[in-house]
Amino acid sequence: MSAQSLSFARRLNSWYRRHARDLPWRQTQDPYKIWISEVMLQQTTVSAVIPYYEKWIRRFPDIRSVAAAGDQEILKMWEGLGYYQRARNLHKAARMIVGEYDGQLPPRADDLRRLPGFGPYTTGAVLSIAFDQRHPIIDANVRRVFMRWLGKEGPPTTVQDGGITEALLEVMPQRNLRTFNQALMELGALVCKNKEPLCHMCPLHNDCRAYASGMQEIIPLREKKEFVELDVAIAVASRRGRYFIQQRSAQGLLAGLWEFPGGKLEGDETPTQALVRELREELDVEADEIVPFMRTRHFYTRFRVQLHVFTCRFRGEPRPAGDHRWISKSGFKDYPMPSGSAKIVDKILKQC
Ligand code: SF4
Repeated sequence: MSAQSLSFARRLNSWYRRHARDLPWRQTQDPYKIWISEVMLQQTTVSAVIPYYEKWIRRFPDIRSVAAAGDQEILKMWEGLGYYQRARNLHKAARMIVGEYDGQLPPRADDLRRLPGFGPYTTGAVLSIAFDQRHPIIDANVRRVFMRWLGKEGPPTTVQDGGITEALLEVMPQRNLRTFNQALMELGALVCKNKEPLCHMCPLHNDCRAYASGMQEIIPLREKKEFVELDVAIAVASRRGRYFIQQRSAQGLLAGLWEFPGGKLEGDETPTQALVRELREELDVEADEIVPFMRTRHFYTRFRVQLHVFTCRFRGEPRPAGDHRWISKSGFKDYPMPSGSAKIVDKILKQC
C-alpha cells in the first residue's frame, strides 16, 4: 500500500468514525439488507428512504419473502419512492437468487451482474459493503468528491468515472473496504456538499486541488435543471361509495401502476374542458356533476405538473383500454399508485 493511500484512507476513516450518521442499514452486514438500502438510495434522499427501508424489512425480512410476493404488493411497498423499475428489477432478481443461488446473494461480480438491476454501482456497493471486497463504487457524492480532490473540471457525468476509478484504486486500502466506500459517500453527503462545501472540516483538504485553487464551488460544473410545465386534469369519479381507477399499461413510464383517469390540457383548454375531452377519448363516457376537488403540484423526472382534480359522476359505463376497478376507500391500500394519485387518495381518505 502506498504512503498516499494509507494516509488518504486513514484520514477518511478517522473522520468517518467520528461523524458517520447512525442509519438503519449501517447496523447490519446482511447482504440482502445492504442491497435493498442501496437500491432505495439511488435517486432518493436518505431521509426519504429510512421509513421505506424499515417498512420493507419488516414485511420482507429476507430474499425468499420478496421472491414469494406478488408484483402488485412489491409496487405498493415501493409507492412514493418513484423510479419503479428499481422495484421490478429487485423482484425479478430476488426470484433468480432463490432459483439459482439458494436464496443468498452470490459474492462474485460475474454472478451479480447477471441479475436484473445490478449495474456497476449496485454490484460494487454489494461486493464492498456487504462482502468487504475491493471494488470502487462511484455515486454522485463520490464523483463530486473526487472531481474536486483531483481538480477535474467539467460536468459530473459518467465520462469522469474512468479517471476517478484509477485514482480510487490508488488510494483504496486492501482491507476494510466497507468502511472506506461508505466513508467517501458520507463525506460527499455531509462535507463535500454540492453547494457550499465545508472544506475547513474536510479530512482531505490538505491535498485537495480544488480547495488549493479556490475552485471548490465551481467544480463540478452545475447543470441547471430545466423543468417542463404540465397542467393535467384528473377525475375522481364515484358511484355508491366506490371510486374509479385504471391501470397503466405494462410498458413505459409508471408501468402497471393504478391511477385516476385524466390527461394533459391542450391548447387553450380550461381544466374542465380537458377533463370532459379526456373522459370521452379515454373511457368513452360523459361526466356529470363536475366539481373542483383539489389542486396540487407534483414533480417527476423533468416535469413540473399542476394537477387539477375534480369529483364527478359518469353517465354510463366507462370503457377503458386496460384493466379498471371500482374500489371502496379501504381498497386503496391494495393498489400501487404514482405519487400524484396517492396525494389525491390521501385527501379522499381525510374526507371520511
Ligand atoms: S477540501 Fe473541500 S472541495 Fe476538497 S474534498 Fe474536501 S470538502 Fe471537497
